[in-house]
Amino acid sequence: MAGRSLICRTGEEPAAQAVGRCTERRRTPSVRRGDATVADVTRTWDADWEQRKAGKGCPMCSEGSPDDTYGNARIDAGRVSDAYLVRGDIGQPGYTIVIGRGGHIADLTELSDADATTYLREILKVARALEAHYRPAKLNLEMLGHVVAHLHAHPVPRYVTDDSPGESSKGLMQPDPRRKPIADDVFHRDVAALRVALK
Ligand SMILES: [Zn+2]
Repeated sequence: MAGRSLICRTGEEPAAQAVGRCTERRRTPSVRRGDATVADVTRTWDADWEQRKAGKGCPMCSEGSPDDTYGNARIDAGRVSDAYLVRGDIGQPGYTIVIGRGGHIADLTELSDADATTYLREILKVARALEAHYRPAKLNLEMLGHVVAHLHAHPVPRYVTDDSPGESSKGLMQPDPRRKPIADDVFHRDVAALRVALK
């Protein structure tokens, strides 16, 4: 997309199937951890993790910069990110994903200071609009990426009535295919209001 200097999909995890976990375990001769070499340990992450982290087959890169991705609706397009209100109901109204755009980046630490600052400011803008619209008891900001290894953040509004008091949202851990969609009228009403607020 023109004018974007950063990266390249949330409604949250696109293909959040079994990625991230080895289906068959195998012995690894040695693994580097910092300055130490740990011998004879079992690798538990997928064999292709390093390739995925480098961008191979990245679903967030391949989707481009659409208005709708996996049913999630774009509520804001920033210089280095797109924010999508997630259609799948995780029990936390307002759950959104802010995806870095402009090229493949796995971690915030790979960005220049300027791009990282811009990305965080764009997340902040979206988070404040979510707070004003949904009035949650707390707004969690989760930056994970161990399933889809492309820079993205999860603003997750939390409520005193939710099903995960004292814990991270259980619904967030539920794979996309198991989530029921938020009702049409509620979803489209919220998307419209958030787009106006974020203009
Ligand atoms: Zn990517």
